[in-house]
Parts: sequence; structure tokens; C-alpha cells
Amino acid sequence: MATNLLKRILESSRLPSLPAIALEVIDLVQQPDVNIHQIAATIQNDPALSSRILKTVNSSFYGQTQSISTISHALVVLGLSSVKTLALGFSLVPNLKKAGDPDGFDHLALWKRSLFAATTSRMLAKQAGLFCHEEAFLCGLLQDLGMLAMSQVLGDEYHTLVQANKDGHRALPRYEREMLGTDHAQVGAALALHWNLPEMLAEPIRHHEDADSAPEQVRTLTRCVAVGNDAADVLAEITPGESLDRFYRRCMQWFNLTREKSQPLLQAAHEATQEMRRLFSIETGNLGNGEEILARADEALLKITMQQQQRSMELERENKRLVAEVLTDALTGVANRRRFNQFIRESFDSARRNGQALGVLFLDTDHFKRFNDTHGHQTGDDVLIKQAQTITKAAPAEALVARYGGEEFAVVLPGTGRKDAARLAEQIRRTIEDSEFETGDGQKLKITASIGVAAMEAAEFERVEQLIKAADQAVYAAKASGRNAVRVFIPKVAAA
Ligand code: GH3
Ligand code: MG
Ligand code: MG
Repeated sequence: MATNLLKRILESSRLPSLPAIALEVIDLVQQPDVNIHQIAATIQNDPALSSRILKTVNSSFYGQTQSISTISHALVVLGLSSVKTLALGFSLVPNLKKAGDPDGFDHLALWKRSLFAATTSRMLAKQAGLFCHEEAFLCGLLQDLGMLAMSQVLGDEYHTLVQANKDGHRALPRYEREMLGTDHAQVGAALALHWNLPEMLAEPIRHHEDADSAPEQVRTLTRCVAVGNDAADVLAEITPGESLDRFYRRCMQWFNLTREKSQPLLQAAHEATQEMRRLFSIETGNLGNGEEILARADEALLKITMQQQQRSMELERENKRLVAEVLTDALTGVANRRRFNQFIRESFDSARRNGQALGVLFLDTDHFKRFNDTHGHQTGDDVLIKQAQTITKAAPAEALVARYGGEEFAVVLPGTGRKDAARLAEQIRRTIEDSEFETGDGQKLKITASIGVAAMEAAEFERVEQLIKAADQAVYAAKASGRNAVRVFIPKVAAA
């Protein structure tokens, strides 16, 4: 289907034909050994063409310091390649423009976009130090050649398709491929090659909607056109905020141009477009006031940036919340086992490295199974919450209080030796023993806990698991002693 359609388009009698002068110029372009005099003679044979070229090269867009009065002079100052390309543009465009044709196709919008893109593209090529300024201009101008061809050959079939695409020009090629099996970039390139235009023009046309897929020799040139299209969407006020954002990003990414350097290009492109549309006699409709358009685009971009910042702040907050949630015990709000493992490991390594003490308490609620059985699981939960609060209140700021398991808590105490850890354990044990727990229906209940204490004071444990095991053994000893007690693990070295 795609090849059929391409064939149908390329063979259609409705396709714009090339004027004789264009054919001559193309013919000259093909000849590698063509000299300045031949080119000058051909162009001068067409006074209208010569006059347009001279007006163009003397325009402020070209910024020539000296006035150029003859084609030969232009060839010397601008070079053969530039003048050839200009001549090509001027001989092609008049045959392509169909401004104002009441055929359901928005030619004004197409040329407006193409001209904005062309002027920006030329300025970028200059900035990027490329020698193909004119190609950059002409590629921008002819990029949507395929649309013109499809409009002429397919008529309403194509116009309906273009109108049905509500997602903007960038989405058009995909839509065209879905509906027709090919897109305007492919058709444009095929037509350019069919007309014998050089590949340096045809390939950027083929890849103008996806510059990174362009062959390496024309990639930078194609990128000029692509960024030109971003500028065009800003200047024609089609998604100005998003397009300005993309314009700045791609200027930086592809041309290493900071915002300070790329921003002035937009105003300059707007001015150059006014000038070039006169020289090319292209109808674009009202181009509006450049300064006002850019001020509106700035505002739209600012709004987008603020929305993005807002969104990223929300995401960051949400992330923090999720991270905290992953490390927190849902019932009591203290750290969970995962956090305990992290914290004690880090504290252990740091204590060993710095020769500092590290204390650990393990607290196990006494006869909690019986408590649950007697007063209900819900009341048991409330007790665990209260215990977490009691322990947190007693523990120093640098300590980590964690729920180690069901009715077991742990306290990690960086910088705390055995004695102080034991003192803290005793204080917690007593507070729990002395408190009464009041249930919803006014009952006052008592509960007790057994606490095991272990501490590293002089790097006497080699691995954190040994310290944890020591604290665990101490709880076991507290339970064995009759519960509601504190027991301290004494390492053999210290005991000796
Ligand atoms: P001991 O004095 O020897 O520690 O006896 P114990 O009954 O406390 O110990 P055991 O390990 O036999 O039982 C622990 C109980 O803790 C069993 C379980 O129902 C209770 N438990 C564990 N997690 C929770 C919880 O999240 N909420 C409540 N309400 N109870 C829990
Ligand atoms: Mg237990
Ligand atoms: Mg218990």
C-alpha cells in the first residue's frame, strides 16, 4: 500500500511541475565540476530569480556588511553552494505555494510553520558552525513538501485525515502511517529525490520529524530543522509553553546553546520571517507581534515549570512517606524490624571503627499470651502501643526504638555502655511495672516486662549477630529469673 501510494503520488499529473529554471538549476547542482560563470549565467537568464536572490543576500537576515550587486559577486561572497541552494529555493517555492486555495487545506499554517522553522534552522546552522546555512533554510522551508503533494494528489481524502488528527503536527506522521501506510516526510523525501534534488535536502526532509534517525552526514542539519520546528510552534503559538521548553532543551542538548544564547534566536527568527516571506512572496497570514508572542510563551513555560516543580515536590514527599512507611511498624509507629537491622548494623560498624560503646536492650512483655486471652487482642494491641510510648519517652534522642517482633521491643543505644544501658533498662522496667493500663470500660490492668541488656564497650564483639544474641540470652535469663526483671550479659573478657 505504501509503495503503491508513493507511486501514485509521484506519477500523478496533479503534482506541481517544476519550472524550466528549476530544472536547469537542479541540473547544474548535479554537476560536480560546474563553475561560477555557468551558474551566474543561468541565474542571470532569469531576471526575476536574480533579483530575488540579490534582495535576499542583501537583506538584514543575511547581515552582509557589503552590498552585493551581481550574481557573480554573490557567488564569490556567499560561495557556490549557498547561491545554488538559494536559486533552487526561489525556483521551487513559487510553484508549490497555493496560498488561499479554498481546497480545505490550511496552506497558510503550513507556510507559516515552514518559514519560522526555516529562518530558525538557518540561524542554528550558523551558530553550530555548519557551512550549509542555505540547506538548513531550504530544508525547513520544504520539510512539508509531502503534505503539499498528498493534498494535491489525494485531495479531500488527505484533508479529512489532517483535520481528524487533533494531536498536532508532531503526531501527524504516525497518524498518516496508520491511515495511508506512509507519511508526509517519506513522500516529501521521495518527491525531492524524484525531482533530482540533492540528498542533502531530501534526507533532512525524510527525517524532519525524528532528527535522531537521520543518517550521520545530515543529522546536525536535520536537528537544525527539528529545533526550527520547536521555534515555529512557539512563534505560531501552537503549544507555546511545551514547545519553548523543548526548544531550550534541544538547543542545549544538540547545540550546546544556553538559554541566554538560544532565546534571542526566537525574536530574530520572527523578524527574519517577516523579511523572508516578502522576498519569497509567501502568504502566511498575520505573524503577530514577536515580543508579545514570546512574552506569552515565557509565561506559559513558567506555568509548566511551576507545575512540574509542584509535581516533583509531591512525588518527593510521597517517596519519603513510602520510605518511612517501609521502615515503620504500623501498629506502634516505632521503627520496624527492617529498620532495626539496618540501624544496629550501621551503629555496630561505626562503634567498632571509632572505638565507641554500643548498648542494646531487648524487652519482652511478660505472659502476654495470657493477657490477650483474658482481655482480648484489641486491648493487647493498646498495651503494645503504650509500651512503645513508654520506651520512646525513656530512651535518649540518639537511640532507636524498634518493634522487634510481636510483643518484643528493642532499643539500640549508640555511645552507651553496659552500666548506663542497664540503668535505662531498669528505669523502663519500673515505669511499666508502676503504670496502670486503663481499658475502654474503665478496668485498670497491670503488665510487666523482662529486659535483657548487652553492650559492646571495647570491640569485644566481632559481628553484630553476636551482640544481638547476647541481648537475647539476657532476656532469656530475665525470664528464667521469674520475669519482671533486668539481666545484663557480661562477656567473658569483662567477667574475667
Ligand atoms: P513470656 O512471658 O514467656 O514472654 O510469655 P508470652 O505469653 O508473652 O510469650 P509467647 O511468646 O508465648 O506469646 C507471645 C504472645 O504475644 C502471643 C501473641 O498472641 C501475642 N502477640 C504477638 N503479637 C501481638 C500483637 O500484635 N498484638 C497482640 N494483641 N498480641 C500479640
Ligand atoms: Mg515472646
Ligand atoms: Mg512475652
